[in-house]
Amino acid sequence: AKATGSNNVCFYDISMDQAARARSALAMDMRHGLMHGEFELYFQRQNDTQSGKVVGFEVLLRWTHPMRGMVSPVDFIPIAERTGFIMELGDWVLRQACLEAVQWRNPLCIAVNVAPKQLANPAFPQRVRDILTETGLPAERLELEITESGIIADQQHALNIIRQLKSFGVKIAMDDYGTGYSSLSTLQLFPFDKIKIDRAFIDNVAENRQSAAIVRSTLILAQSLDIPVLAEGVENADHLKFLQDEGCAQVQGYLYGRPAPLSQLQDVVNGQPAD
Ligand code: C2E
Ligand code: CA
Ligand code: CA
Ligand code: CA
Repeated sequence: AKATGSNNVCFYDISMDQAARARSALAMDMRHGLMHGEFELYFQRQNDTQSGKVVGFEVLLRWTHPMRGMVSPVDFIPIAERTGFIMELGDWVLRQACLEAVQWRNPLCIAVNVAPKQLANPAFPQRVRDILTETGLPAERLELEITESGIIADQQHALNIIRQLKSFGVKIAMDDYGTGYSSLSTLQLFPFDKIKIDRAFIDNVAENRQSAAIVRSTLILAQSLDIPVLAEGVENADHLKFLQDEGCAQVQGYLYGRPAPLSQLQDVVNGQPAD
C-alpha cells in the first residue's frame, strides 16, 4: 500500500470494515437473542473415575439463532469476546446457572466457563459474590473454569482476582490443560483446585504413546502438587480404563453423557441419589 496503494488501502479498509460489521451484526443478534430467550444452558456430567458417580456438571452455552439455527459456542464466544458482549453474556450464564443449580434436590457442583475479559475485570469477584448472594447458591458448589490465556497477560492481577474468589469459597479449575504454555510455574503460582486435561490428549491415549506420556506426567505432577485432575473428552471404555489405572480423579465426556438441557437430567439433579 505505497505508490499505487491508495486503492489498496481503500480496499483494505473496506474489507476490515466489512469484517467488523459482520462481527457487530452477530453481536447485535446476540444482544437481541439474549433478550429474547435464544440462549440456553446445557449441562454435561462430570463423574468420579472410580465409582462412576456424578459429582457435578460443566455448564455449556447454546444459542439457537432464528435464521442460522444452532450456532456453536466455538463460533460465537470469540466474537462476544472481541466485541466485549462476553461481559453481559458471561454474567447471564453465571447467574442462570446458579439460579438453576440452587433448585436441585442433589447439591451437585457446577463448573462455569469464564472468559479472559471477565476474569480481568477488577469488579468480577464482587459480581460473583453478589450473584451467589442473590441466588442463594453456596459458594462451595461453584467452580470457575479459566484458561491460560486468561492469566498470562497480567499474572499478578489474575492471581489477585483468583485469591479474592477463593477467599469466599469459589473453586478454580485450570481448563484445557496442555494446550497452552502450561508451564510448571503457572501451576505452582496459581492455587488451582482442579486441572482439566484437554480432550486432545485423551482422544488417542490408548494408541499414542506420546499422548499417554503427557497424561501420565500431568497426573504425576498434579499429584505432587495435590491437585485433582479431570480428563475431558472421555468417549469410550479404553479411555476410562486408562484413566482409572493411572489414578485420574474425574472424567467428563460422551461416555457418560453429552451436554444436555436440564429437562433431560431431572433424574440426576432431582432423583434419589443412587445408593
Ligand atoms: P470447553 O470449555 O473445553 O468445553 C468442552 C467442550 O468439549 C464442549 O464443547 C463439549 O461439548 C465438548 N465435549 C465434551 N465431551 C466431549 C467428548 O467426549 N468428545 C468430544 N469430541 N467433545 C466433547 P462446546 O459445548 O461446543 O463448547 C466449546 C467451547 O466453547 C468450550 O470449550 C468453551 O471454551 C466455550 N464455551 C462454551 N460455553 C461457554 C460459556 O458459557 N462461556 C465461555 N466463556 N465459553 C464457553
Ligand atoms: Ca471448560
Ligand atoms: Ca476444556
Ligand atoms: Ca477446549
